[in-house]
Amino acid sequence: MSKEDYYDTLGVDRSADAAGLKSAYRKLAMKYHPDRNPGDAAAEAKFKEVSEAYDILKDDQKRAAYDQYGHSAFENGGMGGGGGGFHGFESAGFSDIFEDLFGMGGGRRRDPNASSRGADLRYNLTITLEDAFAGKAEKIAIPTTVSCDTCDGSGAADGTKPSACTTCNGIGKVRSQQGFFMVERTCPKCQGNGLVIEDPCGTCHGSGKKKKNKTLDVKIPAGVEEGTRIRLSGEGKAGERGGPSGDLYIFIDIEYHPIFQRDGSTVFCEMPIPMTTATLGGEIEVPTIGGKKAKVKITKGTQTGKRFKIHGKGMPILNSGGGVGDMVIQANVETPVNLSKKQKELLRAFAEECGDDVSPESSGFLNKAKELWEDLTE
Ligand SMILES: [Zn+2]
Ligand SMILES: [Zn+2]
Repeated sequence: MSKEDYYDTLGVDRSADAAGLKSAYRKLAMKYHPDRNPGDAAAEAKFKEVSEAYDILKDDQKRAAYDQYGHSAFENGGMGGGGGGFHGFESAGFSDIFEDLFGMGGGRRRDPNASSRGADLRYNLTITLEDAFAGKAEKIAIPTTVSCDTCDGSGAADGTKPSACTTCNGIGKVRSQQGFFMVERTCPKCQGNGLVIEDPCGTCHGSGKKKKNKTLDVKIPAGVEEGTRIRLSGEGKAGERGGPSGDLYIFIDIEYHPIFQRDGSTVFCEMPIPMTTATLGGEIEVPTIGGKKAKVKITKGTQTGKRFKIHGKGMPILNSGGGVGDMVIQANVETPVNLSKKQKELLRAFAEECGDDVSPESSGFLNKAKELWEDLTE
Protein backbone atom coordinates (compact mmCIF):
# COMPACT_ATOMS: atom_id res chain seq x y z
CA MET A 1 0.00 0.00 0.00
CA SER A 2 1.57 3.19 -1.09
CA LYS A 3 1.17 6.17 1.16
CA GLU A 4 1.54 9.78 0.23
CA ASP A 5 4.64 11.51 1.45
CA TYR A 6 3.88 13.51 4.63
CA TYR A 7 5.41 16.65 3.15
CA ASP A 8 3.24 16.30 0.07
CA THR A 9 0.19 15.66 2.24
CA LEU A 10 0.76 18.97 3.95
CA GLY A 11 1.86 20.60 0.69
CA VAL A 12 5.13 21.85 2.15
CA ASP A 13 8.74 21.75 1.18
CA ARG A 14 11.07 19.25 2.94
CA SER A 15 12.87 22.21 4.45
CA ALA A 16 9.71 23.75 5.95
CA ASP A 17 10.19 25.06 9.48
CA ALA A 18 7.81 24.57 12.44
CA ALA A 19 5.82 27.70 11.64
CA GLY A 20 5.47 26.70 8.01
CA LEU A 21 4.24 23.22 8.99
CA LYS A 22 1.80 24.60 11.45
CA SER A 23 0.34 27.11 9.08
CA ALA A 24 -0.01 24.51 6.31
CA TYR A 25 -1.66 22.09 8.71
CA ARG A 26 -3.94 24.72 10.05
CA LYS A 27 -5.28 25.63 6.63
CA LEU A 28 -5.87 22.01 5.67
CA ALA A 29 -7.34 21.08 9.04
CA MET A 30 -9.82 23.93 8.78
CA LYS A 31 -10.70 22.85 5.26
CA TYR A 32 -11.26 19.18 6.03
CA HIS A 33 -12.40 19.32 9.64
CA PRO A 34 -15.41 17.01 10.15
CA ASP A 35 -17.40 19.81 11.75
CA ARG A 36 -17.23 21.69 8.49
CA ASN A 37 -17.86 18.66 6.30
CA PRO A 38 -20.56 16.73 8.09
CA GLY A 39 -21.10 13.30 6.57
CA ASP A 40 -18.28 13.65 4.05
CA ALA A 41 -16.15 10.52 4.42
CA ALA A 42 -13.51 11.66 1.91
CA ALA A 43 -12.97 14.89 3.84
CA GLU A 44 -12.71 12.95 7.08
CA ALA A 45 -10.11 10.60 5.58
CA LYS A 46 -8.19 13.59 4.30
CA PHE A 47 -8.39 15.21 7.70
CA LYS A 48 -6.92 12.10 9.31
CA GLU A 49 -4.08 12.01 6.78
CA VAL A 50 -3.28 15.66 7.31
CA SER A 51 -3.40 15.24 11.10
CA GLU A 52 -1.17 12.19 10.97
CA ALA A 53 1.37 13.95 8.79
CA TYR A 54 1.45 16.95 11.07
CA ASP A 55 1.66 14.83 14.19
CA ILE A 56 4.85 13.23 12.88
CA LEU A 57 6.49 16.25 11.34
CA LYS A 58 5.91 18.63 14.26
CA ASP A 59 7.98 16.33 16.47
CA ASP A 60 11.69 16.79 15.75
CA GLN A 61 12.62 13.25 16.70
CA LYS A 62 9.84 11.67 14.65
CA ARG A 63 10.55 13.97 11.75
CA ALA A 64 14.23 12.98 11.72
CA ALA A 65 13.24 9.30 11.69
CA TYR A 66 10.76 9.92 8.90
CA ASP A 67 13.35 11.80 6.87
CA GLN A 68 15.71 8.86 7.21
CA TYR A 69 13.42 5.84 6.88
CA GLY A 70 10.24 7.16 5.36
CA HIS A 71 6.91 5.55 6.37
CA SER A 72 8.70 2.36 7.39
CA ALA A 73 9.98 4.22 10.43
CA PHE A 74 6.48 3.92 11.87
CA GLU A 75 5.50 0.49 10.69
CA ASN A 76 5.82 -2.77 12.63
CA GLY A 77 6.46 -1.00 15.86
CA GLY A 78 8.84 1.40 14.19
CA MET A 79 12.64 1.61 13.94
CA GLY A 80 13.25 -2.04 13.04
CA GLY A 81 10.88 -3.47 15.61
CA GLY A 82 13.09 -2.99 18.64
CA GLY A 83 11.54 -2.16 21.96
CA GLY A 84 13.30 1.16 22.27
CA GLY A 85 12.85 4.41 20.45
CA PHE A 86 9.52 6.02 20.02
CA HIS A 87 6.27 4.43 19.12
CA GLY A 88 4.57 4.66 15.83
CA PHE A 89 1.88 7.15 15.15
CA GLU A 90 -0.83 6.49 17.64
CA SER A 91 -4.02 7.55 16.15
CA ALA A 92 -4.65 10.47 18.41
CA GLY A 93 -8.22 11.64 18.13
CA PHE A 94 -8.68 14.79 16.11
CA SER A 95 -9.75 16.61 19.13
CA ASP A 96 -6.34 16.17 20.78
CA ILE A 97 -4.51 17.53 17.81
CA PHE A 98 -6.99 20.24 17.28
CA GLU A 99 -6.82 21.24 20.89
CA ASP A 100 -3.07 21.25 20.70
CA LEU A 101 -3.15 23.55 17.73
CA PHE A 102 -5.88 25.95 18.59
CA GLY A 103 -6.23 25.62 22.33
CA MET A 104 -9.80 24.59 22.34
CA GLY A 105 -9.63 24.21 26.09
CA GLY A 106 -13.21 25.06 26.92
CA GLY A 107 -15.03 23.16 24.28
CA ARG A 108 -15.84 22.49 20.73
CA ARG A 109 -15.95 24.83 17.83
CA ARG A 110 -19.28 26.47 17.72
CA ASP A 111 -21.81 25.79 15.14
CA PRO A 112 -22.70 29.23 13.77
CA ASN A 113 -26.36 28.52 14.35
CA ALA A 114 -26.07 26.84 17.74
CA SER A 115 -28.41 28.24 20.32
CA SER A 116 -28.14 28.07 24.09
CA ARG A 117 -30.56 28.26 26.96
CA GLY A 118 -30.94 31.53 28.86
CA ALA A 119 -29.84 31.92 32.47
CA ASP A 120 -32.16 31.30 35.41
CA LEU A 121 -33.14 34.32 37.43
CA ARG A 122 -33.78 34.75 41.13
CA TYR A 123 -36.36 37.05 42.63
CA ASN A 124 -36.69 37.56 46.38
CA LEU A 125 -40.23 38.06 47.53
CA THR A 126 -41.03 39.04 51.09
CA ILE A 127 -44.46 38.18 52.36
CA THR A 128 -46.18 38.28 55.75
CA LEU A 129 -46.86 35.21 57.85
CA GLU A 130 -50.58 35.80 57.23
CA ASP A 131 -49.92 35.59 53.46
CA ALA A 132 -47.96 32.40 53.98
CA PHE A 133 -50.96 31.06 55.92
CA ALA A 134 -53.61 31.98 53.41
CA GLY A 135 -51.62 31.85 50.16
CA LYS A 136 -51.61 34.81 47.85
CA ALA A 137 -51.80 35.89 44.26
CA GLU A 138 -49.07 38.46 43.76
CA LYS A 139 -48.03 40.54 40.79
CA ILE A 140 -44.32 41.10 40.43
CA ALA A 141 -42.46 43.25 37.95
CA ILE A 142 -39.10 41.89 36.90
CA PRO A 143 -36.54 43.46 34.62
CA THR A 144 -35.64 40.83 32.10
CA THR A 145 -34.27 40.36 28.63
CA VAL A 146 -36.43 38.82 25.99
CA SER A 147 -35.63 37.64 22.52
CA CYS A 148 -35.62 40.46 19.93
CA ASP A 149 -38.74 40.13 17.77
CA THR A 150 -37.16 41.78 14.74
CA CYS A 151 -34.39 39.22 14.25
CA ASP A 152 -35.99 36.38 16.22
CA GLY A 153 -33.04 36.45 18.59
CA SER A 154 -30.28 35.84 16.03
CA GLY A 155 -28.90 39.40 16.22
CA ALA A 156 -28.45 39.46 12.46
CA ALA A 157 -30.36 41.76 10.14
CA ASP A 158 -33.24 40.35 8.16
CA GLY A 159 -32.09 37.83 5.55
CA THR A 160 -28.58 37.44 7.01
CA LYS A 161 -27.01 35.01 9.47
CA PRO A 162 -24.14 35.27 11.94
CA SER A 163 -20.97 33.69 10.56
CA ALA A 164 -18.01 32.00 12.21
CA CYS A 165 -15.41 34.49 13.40
CA THR A 166 -12.40 34.44 11.09
CA THR A 167 -9.95 35.59 13.77
CA CYS A 168 -10.46 32.54 15.98
CA ASN A 169 -12.07 30.26 13.40
CA GLY A 170 -15.20 30.12 15.47
CA ILE A 171 -13.50 28.84 18.60
CA GLY A 172 -13.80 32.01 20.62
CA LYS A 173 -10.23 31.86 21.88
CA VAL A 174 -6.89 32.78 20.40
CA ARG A 175 -3.41 31.65 21.40
CA SER A 176 -0.17 33.48 21.15
CA GLN A 177 3.40 32.68 22.10
CA GLN A 178 4.89 34.83 24.85
CA GLY A 179 8.41 33.72 25.59
CA PHE A 180 8.13 30.12 26.69
CA PHE A 181 4.43 30.28 27.29
CA MET A 182 1.46 29.80 25.11
CA VAL A 183 -1.06 32.36 26.23
CA GLU A 184 -4.69 31.74 25.52
CA ARG A 185 -7.17 34.55 25.64
CA THR A 186 -10.69 35.36 24.59
CA CYS A 187 -10.87 36.31 20.95
CA PRO A 188 -10.88 40.11 20.74
CA LYS A 189 -12.98 40.17 17.61
CA CYS A 190 -15.94 38.06 18.66
CA GLN A 191 -15.51 38.36 22.48
CA GLY A 192 -15.39 34.60 22.78
CA ASN A 193 -18.68 34.12 21.05
CA GLY A 194 -17.14 32.39 18.04
CA LEU A 195 -19.55 34.23 15.82
CA VAL A 196 -19.59 37.62 14.18
CA ILE A 197 -22.54 39.46 12.86
CA GLU A 198 -21.58 41.38 9.75
CA ASP A 199 -24.93 43.06 9.39
CA PRO A 200 -26.49 43.56 12.82
CA CYS A 201 -30.19 43.79 13.44
CA GLY A 202 -31.24 47.44 13.70
CA THR A 203 -33.50 46.89 16.71
CA CYS A 204 -31.15 45.06 19.09
CA HIS A 205 -27.82 46.09 17.50
CA GLY A 206 -26.73 42.49 17.23
CA SER A 207 -27.37 41.30 20.79
CA GLY A 208 -30.46 39.36 19.80
CA LYS A 209 -32.12 40.50 23.01
CA LYS A 210 -33.96 43.44 24.42
CA LYS A 211 -34.68 44.64 27.93
CA LYS A 212 -38.21 44.54 29.12
CA ASN A 213 -40.07 44.81 32.40
CA LYS A 214 -42.35 41.88 32.70
CA THR A 215 -45.28 41.69 35.07
CA LEU A 216 -45.88 38.21 36.24
CA ASP A 217 -48.67 36.67 38.24
CA VAL A 218 -47.28 34.53 40.98
CA LYS A 219 -49.46 32.17 42.89
CA ILE A 220 -48.03 31.68 46.36
CA PRO A 221 -49.42 28.47 47.79
CA ALA A 222 -50.69 28.39 51.38
CA GLY A 223 -48.06 27.01 53.74
CA VAL A 224 -44.90 28.32 52.05
CA GLU A 225 -41.91 28.58 54.33
CA GLU A 226 -38.88 30.80 54.52
CA GLY A 227 -36.68 29.78 51.59
CA THR A 228 -39.41 28.02 49.61
CA ARG A 229 -38.68 28.38 45.91
CA ILE A 230 -41.40 28.82 43.37
CA ARG A 231 -40.32 28.07 39.82
CA LEU A 232 -41.81 29.93 36.91
CA SER A 233 -40.78 27.91 33.92
CA GLY A 234 -39.46 29.88 30.94
CA GLU A 235 -39.58 33.25 32.72
CA GLY A 236 -35.81 33.64 33.11
CA LYS A 237 -33.38 35.24 30.69
CA ALA A 238 -33.90 34.84 26.98
CA GLY A 239 -31.73 32.20 25.32
CA GLU A 240 -28.86 32.93 22.94
CA ARG A 241 -29.68 32.93 19.26
CA GLY A 242 -33.25 31.86 19.71
CA GLY A 243 -32.52 29.22 22.40
CA PRO A 244 -35.09 28.58 25.13
CA SER A 245 -35.41 30.99 28.05
CA GLY A 246 -34.21 30.08 31.53
CA ASP A 247 -36.50 29.78 34.53
CA LEU A 248 -37.38 32.31 37.18
CA TYR A 249 -37.10 31.20 40.79
CA ILE A 250 -38.99 33.12 43.41
CA PHE A 251 -37.41 32.77 46.83
CA ILE A 252 -39.84 33.39 49.65
CA ASP A 253 -38.83 35.47 52.66
CA ILE A 254 -41.26 35.72 55.53
CA GLU A 255 -41.45 38.86 57.61
CA TYR A 256 -40.95 38.79 61.36
CA HIS A 257 -44.29 38.57 63.11
CA PRO A 258 -44.81 40.48 66.39
CA ILE A 259 -47.02 37.82 67.97
CA PHE A 260 -46.54 34.51 66.24
CA GLN A 261 -43.44 32.44 65.71
CA ARG A 262 -43.45 29.57 63.34
CA ASP A 263 -41.64 26.28 63.24
CA GLY A 264 -42.69 24.30 60.19
CA SER A 265 -46.43 23.87 60.50
CA THR A 266 -46.56 24.77 64.20
CA VAL A 267 -47.39 28.31 65.28
CA PHE A 268 -46.21 29.44 68.71
CA CYS A 269 -47.65 32.26 70.71
CA GLU A 270 -46.60 33.44 74.14
CA MET A 271 -49.81 34.44 75.88
CA PRO A 272 -50.06 36.62 79.01
CA ILE A 273 -52.51 35.07 81.46
CA PRO A 274 -53.97 36.96 84.44
CA MET A 275 -52.71 35.65 87.76
CA THR A 276 -56.24 34.87 88.90
CA THR A 277 -57.05 32.78 85.81
CA ALA A 278 -53.73 30.98 86.08
CA THR A 279 -54.50 30.30 89.75
CA LEU A 280 -58.17 29.36 89.61
CA GLY A 281 -58.28 28.01 86.06
CA GLY A 282 -60.61 29.24 83.34
CA GLU A 283 -60.98 29.81 79.68
CA ILE A 284 -59.19 32.46 77.65
CA GLU A 285 -59.45 33.61 74.07
CA VAL A 286 -56.37 33.61 71.89
CA PRO A 287 -55.81 35.07 68.42
CA THR A 288 -54.89 32.60 65.68
CA ILE A 289 -52.81 33.10 62.53
CA GLY A 290 -55.98 32.60 60.52
CA GLY A 291 -57.36 35.85 61.96
CA LYS A 292 -59.99 34.23 64.14
CA LYS A 293 -60.13 33.62 67.85
CA ALA A 294 -59.81 30.29 69.55
CA LYS A 295 -60.61 29.33 73.12
CA VAL A 296 -58.18 27.58 75.41
CA LYS A 297 -58.89 26.01 78.77
CA ILE A 298 -56.32 27.06 81.32
CA THR A 299 -55.95 24.50 84.05
CA LYS A 300 -55.86 25.74 87.65
CA GLY A 301 -52.39 26.26 89.04
CA THR A 302 -50.85 27.09 85.63
CA GLN A 303 -47.29 28.36 85.90
CA THR A 304 -45.40 30.54 83.46
CA GLY A 305 -43.98 28.43 80.66
CA LYS A 306 -46.76 25.85 80.61
CA ARG A 307 -47.83 25.00 77.08
CA PHE A 308 -51.28 24.31 75.68
CA LYS A 309 -51.86 22.86 72.27
CA ILE A 310 -54.73 23.91 70.04
CA HIS A 311 -55.21 21.30 67.39
CA GLY A 312 -55.42 22.37 63.74
CA LYS A 313 -54.82 26.09 64.27
CA GLY A 314 -51.28 26.21 62.90
CA MET A 315 -49.97 26.64 59.34
CA PRO A 316 -51.21 24.72 56.34
CA ILE A 317 -48.77 21.95 55.37
CA LEU A 318 -47.50 22.46 51.82
CA ASN A 319 -48.41 19.67 49.38
CA SER A 320 -50.24 17.69 52.06
CA GLY A 321 -53.66 17.90 50.53
CA GLY A 322 -55.14 20.17 53.17
CA GLY A 323 -53.17 19.17 56.27
CA VAL A 324 -52.84 21.84 58.95
CA GLY A 325 -50.42 22.04 61.88
CA ASP A 326 -51.16 22.94 65.51
CA MET A 327 -50.91 26.09 67.53
CA VAL A 328 -49.01 26.08 70.79
CA ILE A 329 -49.76 28.62 73.50
CA GLN A 330 -47.15 29.25 76.12
CA ALA A 331 -48.49 30.72 79.35
CA ASN A 332 -46.87 33.82 80.76
CA VAL A 333 -48.50 34.47 84.12
CA GLU A 334 -48.94 38.18 84.68
CA THR A 335 -48.24 39.71 88.08
CA PRO A 336 -50.96 42.30 88.90
CA VAL A 337 -49.89 45.96 88.72
CA ASN A 338 -51.53 49.37 89.40
CA LEU A 339 -53.44 48.02 92.42
CA SER A 340 -55.95 50.18 94.26
CA LYS A 341 -55.78 50.54 98.02
CA LYS A 342 -58.56 48.01 98.42
CA GLN A 343 -56.92 45.52 96.11
CA LYS A 344 -53.68 45.78 98.04
CA GLU A 345 -55.55 45.19 101.31
CA LEU A 346 -57.27 42.15 99.89
CA LEU A 347 -53.95 40.74 98.70
CA ARG A 348 -52.32 41.37 102.06
CA ALA A 349 -55.21 39.61 103.80
CA PHE A 350 -54.83 36.79 101.30
CA ALA A 351 -51.09 36.55 101.96
CA GLU A 352 -51.72 36.24 105.70
CA GLU A 353 -54.03 33.35 105.03
CA CYS A 354 -51.39 31.53 102.98
CA GLY A 355 -49.14 28.80 104.23
CA ASP A 356 -46.18 27.06 102.57
CA ASP A 357 -48.44 24.73 100.60
CA VAL A 358 -49.86 27.64 98.54
CA SER A 359 -46.45 28.36 97.01
CA PRO A 360 -44.55 25.09 97.41
CA GLU A 361 -41.87 26.05 94.93
CA SER A 362 -40.98 29.33 96.62
CA SER A 363 -40.97 27.97 100.17
CA GLY A 364 -39.19 24.80 99.20
CA PHE A 365 -36.51 26.60 97.26
CA LEU A 366 -34.48 27.85 100.19
CA ASN A 367 -34.52 24.40 101.80
CA LYS A 368 -33.24 22.89 98.57
CA ALA A 369 -30.44 25.46 98.47
CA LYS A 370 -29.57 24.65 102.10
CA GLU A 371 -29.10 21.03 101.19
CA LEU A 372 -26.54 22.05 98.62
CA TRP A 373 -24.62 24.52 100.73
CA GLU A 374 -24.65 23.65 104.39
CA ASP A 375 -23.05 26.93 105.40
CA LEU A 376 -25.75 29.07 103.74
CA THR A 377 -26.42 31.75 106.34
CA GLU A 378 -28.49 34.86 106.47
ZN1 LIG B 1 -13.33 35.22 17.29
ZN1 LIG C 1 -32.66 42.02 16.78
